[in-house]
Amino acid sequence: MYLVVEKLSKQFGGILAVQNVDFTIEKGKINAIIGPNGAGKSTFFNLISGVYKPTSGRILFKGKDITRLPANKIAELGVARTFQTTHLFENSSVFENVVVGHRLRTKSNLFDAIFRTKREIMEEEQAKEKALEVLQFVGLTRLADRKVANISQEEKKRVAFALALATEPEIVFLDEPTAGINPDETEGLSELIIKMARQGITICLIEHKIKMIMSLADKIMVLNYGEKIAEGTPEEINRNEKVIKAYLGG
Ligand code: ADP
Ligand code: MG
Repeated sequence: MYLVVEKLSKQFGGILAVQNVDFTIEKGKINAIIGPNGAGKSTFFNLISGVYKPTSGRILFKGKDITRLPANKIAELGVARTFQTTHLFENSSVFENVVVGHRLRTKSNLFDAIFRTKREIMEEEQAKEKALEVLQFVGLTRLADRKVANISQEEKKRVAFALALATEPEIVFLDEPTAGINPDETEGLSELIIKMARQGITICLIEHKIKMIMSLADKIMVLNYGEKIAEGTPEEINRNEKVIKAYLGG
């Protein structure tokens, strides 16, 4: 069992954003979560990555209980997530974003991120090498010195992927990786997701583009009003009555 979620719930005031969800993420596979707006998909990701603490339930990663660990500790274990492109520093270069963003997200506070020891300066060199490597992987080498403000939305998505990859993750959570970009650009990002999976990185993604999910995912979970209403292969999900009624329309 790779990443196991047991009876996970999250309540915000009167809203049960995630209700009693059981889910197993399969190692080395492309796992997907779909469901209508407000179904609790992002909350589910935020619970796993430690951004929110669950109201109840457990999260186990390779047998270790990570339910109450702080987000940076979870990240250190190899669990990464992409942030929205609005989290990027628009006035810095693509390269600097990957180096600095990586540092900010792996240090527990701003003090650690700014004041560095000799050892950390060496780590900085490694971070720079890593940044070049991941920029190559996501296809942004030629834009490394370009200001983020001057690249396209699709390229910003690739920077967000690069940030996650720089932490050398075992598993990456992608929250709507193709939101806000035009349809013919989604193909390239799909290919990048497949490339990540081929590298042995486990993927878990939230996506609205059903066609894309059906061709990409090995396994899908469907959330509706915080509850899991179905789980299975794309074929199984496609013909699931509950899913058709709640989400696919028909
Ligand atoms: P999805 O990603 O599937 O669109 P979300 O997980 O963002 O859904 O939201 C699920 C529900 O939880 C929604 O009703 C949303 O308004 C609520 N919610 C999400 N985050 C918060 C929060 N930080 N505080 C209060 N309510 C929240
Ligand atoms: Mg969401």
